[in-house]
Amino acid sequence: MQKSAALQLTQISGSHSSTATHCPYCAFQCGMYLRGPRESVKVTGNALFPVNKGGLCIKGWTAPETLAHPDRLLTPLARDAGGTLVPVTWDEALTRIVQSFQRVQSCYGRDAVGIFGGGSLTNEKAYLLGKFARIALGTSNIDYNGRFCMSSAAAASIKAFGVDRGLPFPLEDIPQAEVILLIGSNIAETMPPMMQYIESQRSNGGKLLVVDPRVSATAQAATLHLNLTPGSDAALANGLLHILIRDGLIDRDYIRERTEGFDKARSVAATYWPERVERLTGVPEAQLVEAAHMLGTASSAMVLTARGAEQQSQGVNNTLAYINLALVLGLVGRPYSGYGTLTGQGNGQGGREHGQKADQLPGYRKIDDPIARRHIAGVWGIPESELPGPGKSAYEMLDRLGQEDGVRALLVIGSNIVVSAPHALHMRERLKALEMLIVADFFLSETAQLADIVLPTTQWAEEEGTMTNLEGRVIARRQAFEPPPGVRSDVNLICDLADRLGKGQFFAFSGVDQIFDELRRASAGGIADYSGITYEKIKANNGVFWPCPAEDHPGTPRLFQERFHTPTGKAGFHAIRHLPSAEVVDSDYPLYLTTGRVLAQYQSGTQTRRVAQLRALAPEPRAALHPAVAKRYGLVDGDVVKLTTRRGAATFAVKVTMDIREDTIFVPFHWGGNQSVNRLTNPALDPTSRMPEFKVCAVRIESITETGEDQL
Ligand code: SF4
Repeated sequence: MQKSAALQLTQISGSHSSTATHCPYCAFQCGMYLRGPRESVKVTGNALFPVNKGGLCIKGWTAPETLAHPDRLLTPLARDAGGTLVPVTWDEALTRIVQSFQRVQSCYGRDAVGIFGGGSLTNEKAYLLGKFARIALGTSNIDYNGRFCMSSAAAASIKAFGVDRGLPFPLEDIPQAEVILLIGSNIAETMPPMMQYIESQRSNGGKLLVVDPRVSATAQAATLHLNLTPGSDAALANGLLHILIRDGLIDRDYIRERTEGFDKARSVAATYWPERVERLTGVPEAQLVEAAHMLGTASSAMVLTARGAEQQSQGVNNTLAYINLALVLGLVGRPYSGYGTLTGQGNGQGGREHGQKADQLPGYRKIDDPIARRHIAGVWGIPESELPGPGKSAYEMLDRLGQEDGVRALLVIGSNIVVSAPHALHMRERLKALEMLIVADFFLSETAQLADIVLPTTQWAEEEGTMTNLEGRVIARRQAFEPPPGVRSDVNLICDLADRLGKGQFFAFSGVDQIFDELRRASAGGIADYSGITYEKIKANNGVFWPCPAEDHPGTPRLFQERFHTPTGKAGFHAIRHLPSAEVVDSDYPLYLTTGRVLAQYQSGTQTRRVAQLRALAPEPRAALHPAVAKRYGLVDGDVVKLTTRRGAATFAVKVTMDIREDTIFVPFHWGGNQSVNRLTNPALDPTSRMPEFKVCAVRIESITETGEDQL
């Protein structure tokens, strides 16, 4: 596939040319310049890109190290008769894949082939993957790892506002917010360049309230830290709502004119009096009152949630309970105010808009909506009856792999399931039960190691496409280097496979710009409407905010100023009751386990664990526990412990720290094998979003240092 002329955007810096592109990792999508050669790439932060303003974190500065890494896959691999992965040609690999898809579908039906995508894929890839599943394979079974990331916040935003865009306002509004309530996010480590906005807000006299069971680096910067018991978010939010109503700190005009459902939410909140909430959350009543009054007396305020509250079996309700706070204060749609969720993965926003979800078609359309189906069938040139219906959500699809009613052949693109899915030992068994596992990746990830066929793909700096950052700003990823010989882009391999499956006429694109043009048509009239976004506009404006329904439309940095996207145009309160997490502590498993990220690693670590500087900073996961717990179990810093839950065990060196509650252990999730904390996590799903409960389960701790027990 040729590089599109529209994206050939380089700038000359001194005697070297440099390419303006974006970091491959998180949803902040920092702008950066890359200057070759690929073996020793120089990185410069793009000071003109208004999101990061030149700032990068250590992951961004070191990102190019993966490009010429010795572990790079440079040829397809396939299992030989002895079960060893050996090099094969692309033709052989793709032929075997097509034969296996056809055999599996003729034996078990179309839905027996599944696709698992990722939130790091460009918009064009996410779009193409959804189209590939529905047209080339005719399967309903496609979902992606963003289900494990953004699905609860997305479902809650759709319920409350009728639309899900992570931040419905630009980052530039943050410094003007008088108070920010930040829930379950450690941005000082996960997106450090975002702290410049918080620092400006603080220098303007603003206050930061952080809700977290850890005294994280971000909580240390807070005006007030609410150190809640894991799994008690809805109780905390209801408690704050109770105090705001009781003390007359609510915006009655806004509630009357712009919302509905307040009375029911108020009735439920009435039962969350502060003493009760203190018992449920562990947060002292005085702090609850102080937080509520800071929020209730501010002239502008923001409520921002993240995975801490969302990755729970009550994740949607938790988020709705926090949204109730934003609504009762009249924040949403007001200047320098509102509710937002901080998207995690690089294209976590765009990745959930263009059809790689089980229940979705491009433009954030529902796959069971007859009007949406007609529109997309029209764009794709197929009868509507040929479009499959909704498939299984990510964990539900993975849980049934190789089973009678499950997927038998799975194509994984841009995801390392073995490390990032909950109940990881079970996931591993399910992947091994497949008749055919195909993994497209640029390193032999833990999931690729189980594959029957591995396809070597291009990396971020070797390809083009669009991404959508946490603000809903559509930006361009630009190619700085030609890919190494033997490596193909995901786009190329999807189109080739479609052709071999006899559907090439639907995938005859000569460049990613043509895919983007089709995506624009497909999204037209949908919630996430990209139809007016062009590469030229992206370049001229440092990105374009969706919705952008016409080429002469400037894009929409701020949503909800006039109305919400619900049938009545009003935002919805929801009456939320606190329910316990799926697992609570007991005498067998007496501590809570929660998981998260560290500064120097990213997601499943496939890339960052291979970067020497990052590995030196964070060589292994440490289980953070309170000195009181250390004393109870006779542990000192560096001791090795076995953590066990009802799903498995893993071993970790301990980090004894005051930065964690006495009833909770924190372990980062970037590692595999017996250092995989996802061996322990609970796959209990939120009933609406199907989000697993990564953030809370019950755990037992045993020292294995003294007994000399082998690591698992
Ligand atoms: S990881 Fe995120 S915050 Fe760090 S440089 Fe990359 S995009 Fe920026």
